This record gives sequence, structure tokens and C-alpha cells, in this order.
Amino acid sequence: MNPLVIIGGGASGAITALNLRKLLPKAPPILVIEPRKQLGLGLAYSTQCLEHRINVPASKMSAVRLDPTDFARWLAEHDDGALAEAEDRYPSRALFGHYLADRLAPYVLEGTVVHVRDRVEHVEGSGPFTLTTARGDQIVAARVVIATSHPAPALPAFLAQSPRVIENPWADKALEAIGADERVAIIGTGLSMADVIATLSARGHRAPVLAFSRRGLRSRGHASAPSSPFGVYGAERATRLLAQIRENIAQSGDWHAVIDAVRQQGYAIWSQLAPAERRRVVRHLRPFWDVHRFRIAPQIEATLNAQIAENRLEILAARLEGVAPDGTLMLRERGGKRRHWVADRVINTTGPDHRGLLQKTSFLQDLAQAGLIAPDPSGLGVHTDHDYRAVGQKSLFIIGPLARGTFGELMGFPEITAHAELGAASIVRTLTGEGFIQ
Ligand SMILES: Cc1cc2nc3c(=O)[nH]c(=O)nc-3n(C[C@H](O)[C@H](O)[C@H](O)COP(=O)(O)OP(=O)(O)OC[C@H]3O[C@@H](n4cnc5c(N)ncnc54)[C@H](O)[C@@H]3O)c2cc1C
Repeated sequence: MNPLVIIGGGASGAITALNLRKLLPKAPPILVIEPRKQLGLGLAYSTQCLEHRINVPASKMSAVRLDPTDFARWLAEHDDGALAEAEDRYPSRALFGHYLADRLAPYVLEGTVVHVRDRVEHVEGSGPFTLTTARGDQIVAARVVIATSHPAPALPAFLAQSPRVIENPWADKALEAIGADERVAIIGTGLSMADVIATLSARGHRAPVLAFSRRGLRSRGHASAPSSPFGVYGAERATRLLAQIRENIAQSGDWHAVIDAVRQQGYAIWSQLAPAERRRVVRHLRPFWDVHRFRIAPQIEATLNAQIAENRLEILAARLEGVAPDGTLMLRERGGKRRHWVADRVINTTGPDHRGLLQKTSFLQDLAQAGLIAPDPSGLGVHTDHDYRAVGQKSLFIIGPLARGTFGELMGFPEITAHAELGAASIVRTLTGEGFIQ
């Protein structure tokens, strides 16, 4: 029988595999096609820079939905004990990646999860599917789970050819060539910008850095003391939802607690909004949601604050209008004022290019051209049904951030853990109903 194949072995793909294995201990091996060396790490946790930290407390970063202390226990077993004592610490993402790979390792060792270290380039068929990999191998799959997540960031066309530009700061050794005295401009002011500052700082960078984005919004920090989620949310209209959030912040005086509650109730809130209202949320509220929901680890926040205080880092609300050959950036500040800034290096931290998803990824393009997948109406990934399948497809499942248009907030690890676990259970139900497994 042809196997079930998961494309993408980051956190979403790995936790799906882990749960499929737990639910189906006797089923044939599951193949996970993932070019990285280990399963589980993906983009977020494969960094080797120890300054890059998890941005959610360790006590909430568990690969097991109903066992929030799983990571903390792993830390206690593998660390010198210092980290495990403090539940609310923010260890390096590399360490967290090690934990995820470790949780999957027994299945990989016994051969019930097979890591195919390759990249899927093309897909043909509609079940069974023939997958062609970058190495030219062909794998026939009875069912496919797509867990490839974020598409690569996009650059403005006028920057694409510039030798000064570092398009992908996550690429291996991408920041190593930057000299300590080179002036650096960063496009984007969110968590990826913060990671870049942390790396540069650890490498002894001394020259001025300018980070800019349209609104110049920085990711907010964590609360000084833990609080419980506050309020109940849900409305048919985006404006009403916003009003509920504001009312509850005024009442509790604690935006952390309100945003935590909104995050917890994300699926129910998203389900109540009509498609047009979802698009309004994405267009108008998402930038504000992102900086309050994706919080910065205290260690990195301290680095940023110190650099701002020393006038080495400036964060600006501006958009880039052009770049002169000598590296001068032509910026338009939010109030309309023009500003020129000379940069030796320009680093792109604009985040995933969700709009270009189906055009940029060759195998997704194949599936779209064959009419098997379509963009989600809110522009947040692939149109997915509530059984975790591409809409109208029996054999094609979507797990992870690509399913956000249907399931709502799905970027953070805690949400991904729950989603992948429930998704695996749904896949098992579907396959059992179809007689694919007994
Ligand atoms: C830099 C960064 C830091 C983050 N830090 C945190 C954090 O501290 N806490 C938190 O809660 N969330 C964090 N997140 C959010 C993060 O999205 C989730 O925690 C989670 O890691 C997402 O996993 P994923 O598997 O969905 O995506 P990814 O990690 O992007 O994994 C997708 C995988 O698919 C593979 N792939 C892509 N195309 C193909 C193909 N054609 N064939 C085969 N494989 C393919 C890729 O190699 C990749 O490994 C962070 C995100 C980023 C980008």
C-alpha cells in the first residue's frame, strides 16, 4: 500500500507525525519529506545563534497539548537544572529544537516515521499522488499532508538585484559577512528584526542600525507578573470585536490578559466572523495583533532598549521608495517627510509573503493549476475545510499556518501543538471512515 506522506517536517509536520504514530501504533511507516537535518526544527528552531530565544515562556511551549510541562521536564533532564527551576524562562530556540527532535527520535529510530531528507518540487495526480523531489526521486503517496507553512519573504522589485541586500536573514551564515562598522538598514520592525539585532550585537556590531516599517510598531514585551486570561470575545463584525477588546482592557487594566484570552478563544472568534469581516481584520487589525500577541523575550528586549538608549538603533515608521546605487535609501516617513539614509547593508525581515504562496512554491503551483487547492478567501493560506482537508479534496490534508484562514490564529507554537494534535485525530477519523486504515 502507498504510504501517507507529510510534506514539511517543521513543528507542524513533526507534531502531526508524532500524534499519527501515537494514534496508529501499528500502521505502516509515515514518510516526512523535509530538507533540514532533523525533524521538528523548521525555520524557527533550526537557528544556531544562542541569542535567539523562544518568545513564549518555556512553561507554555509543550509538544503535547494536555501536558504543558513536557518541555520543562525535558529541560530538567537535559539541562544543568538551572533553567528547569524557573518555569517562566526563555531559553534559546536551538535548545527547543533539540527537544522537538528528541521527542520524535524514538519513532525515527524504530523506522515508523521515515525522514526523507529532500524537498518536494512537483506533485501530480489527485490521490494517489506522485511527488517528485529536488534530487529527482519519485514517491507515490496514497494521502498527502501539506505542512510546509510560511512562504519566503518578498522584496520590493527595485531591491531584488542589489548586492547590498540580504534577502533571507535565516539562510545559513547570512549575517556573517556584515562588518562591525557597516551601517545596517532593516526592513521590518517585528520579532525577526529583533533576532537580527541580537545576532549583530553578539557579533560585536558597532555601527548605526535603522529599522523601519510602515507603522514602525515594535513587538511588545511580556507582563512583569503572570496574569490569567480575561474576558469572553466573539462578534460577527470586526469593529464590535475591537470594541470588546478595548472595553476589556479598560476594565482589567491589563492588555496582556485580554490578548491572552483572545488568543485562547481564537478559533471560536474567527469562526463567528463572516469572510468579509475576516478580511477587514487581516487588513486593519493584524499589524496591531502581531505586536501584542507575538511578544519579545526579555533578554532580546533589553538588548534593543540598550541600543536605542545609546543611539545605535533607531526604529522608524516609514516606507522605502527607492535605493540609489551608493546605498542611499529613499524613505518616506509616516507623516510624509522625505528622509535619506546611507546603508552598507539592507536586511529583509518583512515576514512571510502569504499573498505569493501559490505562485512561489512549485508543488503548490502544480496543485493549484490542477484545481486541487485554492487560496483561502481571507488571503491567509490554502482554503481548508474543518476536517483539515483542502476544500473538496479527499486525500489532501493541510496542517499548520497554511490552514489559518479556516482555523484562525495558528502561528504560535502552543496553537500549532493543539491544531496538529486535533488535526492528526481528524485525519485518523477520516482515514478510518474511508477504510484506508482498520
Ligand atoms: C524565526 C521564528 C521564530 C519563532 N519563534 C517562536 C517562538 O519562540 N514561540 C512560538 O510560539 N512561535 C514561534 N514562531 C512561530 C512558528 O511559526 C511556530 O512556532 C512553528 O515553528 C511553525 O512551524 P511550521 O512547521 O508550521 O513551519 P516551519 O518551521 O516553517 O516548517 C515548515 C517546514 O517545511 C519545509 N518545507 C518547505 N517547503 C518544502 C518542500 N517543498 N518540501 C519539503 N519540505 C518543505 C521547510 O524546510 C520547513 O522545515 C517563530 C517563527 C519564526 C519564523
